[in-house]
Amino acid sequence: VTVRVMWKRHTGRFLALALIFVLICGSLGGCSLRKQFADALARELSGFQSQQQTQEDASQHACVDFSQMTYTRPDEAALYDAIAQIEQAAQSEDEDAVIASCEQLDALYTQASTQYALVMIYHSLDVQDAYYQSEYQLVYEMLTEVERRANEQLMALIEDGYRDALVERWGEEFVEDVQLAVRLNNDAVAALLNRDNELVLEYDRIAAQTSVSFDGRTWTLDDIYADDTLDYDTFYALYDAYCLALCEAVWPVFSELVTVRNQIAETLGFESYAQYQYLCYERDYTPQDALSFAGVVKEQIVPLLTQWYYTVYTNDTYALNMQTFESEETLAQIVENLYGISPVLGEAADYVRTYHLYDVASSDAKEQGAYTIYLEDYESPFLFGNLDEDYYGLGTMIHELGHCAGYYANPGEGPLDLAEIDSQGLELLSMAQYEAYFGRYAGAAAGDKLTDMLYSVVTGCMQDEFQQRIYAMEDLSMQTACQIFGQLNDEYGISELYPASDYEWVLVHHTFQSPFYYISYAASAVPALEIWQIAREDYDEGVQTYLALLMRDHDEDFLQVLQDCDLENPFDSDTLGELAEDLDEELARTLTRAWRFSEKGA
Ligand SMILES: [Zn+2]
Repeated sequence: VTVRVMWKRHTGRFLALALIFVLICGSLGGCSLRKQFADALARELSGFQSQQQTQEDASQHACVDFSQMTYTRPDEAALYDAIAQIEQAAQSEDEDAVIASCEQLDALYTQASTQYALVMIYHSLDVQDAYYQSEYQLVYEMLTEVERRANEQLMALIEDGYRDALVERWGEEFVEDVQLAVRLNNDAVAALLNRDNELVLEYDRIAAQTSVSFDGRTWTLDDIYADDTLDYDTFYALYDAYCLALCEAVWPVFSELVTVRNQIAETLGFESYAQYQYLCYERDYTPQDALSFAGVVKEQIVPLLTQWYYTVYTNDTYALNMQTFESEETLAQIVENLYGISPVLGEAADYVRTYHLYDVASSDAKEQGAYTIYLEDYESPFLFGNLDEDYYGLGTMIHELGHCAGYYANPGEGPLDLAEIDSQGLELLSMAQYEAYFGRYAGAAAGDKLTDMLYSVVTGCMQDEFQQRIYAMEDLSMQTACQIFGQLNDEYGISELYPASDYEWVLVHHTFQSPFYYISYAASAVPALEIWQIAREDYDEGVQTYLALLMRDHDEDFLQVLQDCDLENPFDSDTLGELAEDLDEELARTLTRAWRFSEKGA
């Protein structure tokens, strides 16, 4: 079974999609943006100024240290040679030789993709390093092409009478995956996919160079975020001006991206680019399902978010935000606390810590954000983060350690939305330990975390609806796109939270790099919150549900796994209705100083 899963993970998925498996966590999801806004808000509400900071009590793997893992460029010729050998074996009609040659390709491909993951990490650790930057790009292009050719070769085997032999060796799912991979990526769209990739890089370049002039100086977005002398109105005026400038600068790139992507979908015979991209993420729900879900979210969740967004923001929240959580100490504490939830979670985090499979230090040289990636040859996850030593950094570490635990205890790649339950579910189970992490600010942290989950659900739907509308339009103009976004800011209640900009969609990197990704934040937040609901009634049962989900069969679809774990369909309006009631009650409870995770005492 292990071999089947490993083989599936590689050749069954083509590498153009490998970026998906770098779980994009919190780059502009609720946290980082809300953090910037919280600072601006704090400056507005002068009552917080007096209480700056208070020092409170915060109190079968390879076992190879990360320092021992060195990058070597994959041997491209050997990979193509392995593909050629499959063809030769097929021509000689030797079934054993066909299977053996596939195994050979699998082994080589596993090595190559491990090197790809390694070079990606090194690139993230120093984005200015020219060697790793060019190697990263080179290996990406190399493996994208290798994977396309490999899948086409496997498709030929399936059609030429080797289907049964492949099923016997790797299972029916494997054959289906190859068929899907060829349907999603073949020679007909190779040039379009390359252009897509170039345009995304162009967006990165423009975003890195864009600035705006104000008050006799030039401001980048980081300058705007970092300047704590700006008052509330000036901050948002500058923010809006920056978003507009970036929007104007990248519009030609985005406009072409939409055209190219619509051409990809059309060439491959899909109804829409959304439908195509949903399949790339292995979703078993449709863009239409997401829109219906968004309708319910607008009714049930948006009013909660607008009601609680500021209400939960108290003096304690401010004090909590000002606290320092030193990375190494915090990681040690998280490891210890995770043992308290379940031995397997503690062990996974301990492994990451012991073998230095993490880099979470804050640095300008590093890539922004956080992700977890799996190093197949070493059977080890790696946790990357560019994190501040604060409350948000701590939360992100717990989030990523949820992904690490998944890779450690049950390696494999299935639907993205399930992986995000590993992480968000762990964040919510960790709320039971908030007193250990945050002392008297536990309630403030709980209110913030739950509001953050609401924000994920709302913005997940909003960014998806925005993209669905944009990709479906004829003759798209920047003005129309921004009007639509402004309208959605109103419909989703974002305009009630802060002076939202019609142009700020342009800051969502996912819209460029990983289109239609955002709905995953909403779809996975709901089951994660359901685990939280169960845990508040019976903590052990919540943990058991979480672990059952962690140990899922990676061949199964999102909704199937939820059903197997006795979790509700998140798209069912009753699910959201009950959740909304619980959240409403609990958010009120977090405002009490004596807040505990469960009144029953978890
Ligand atoms: Zn994540």
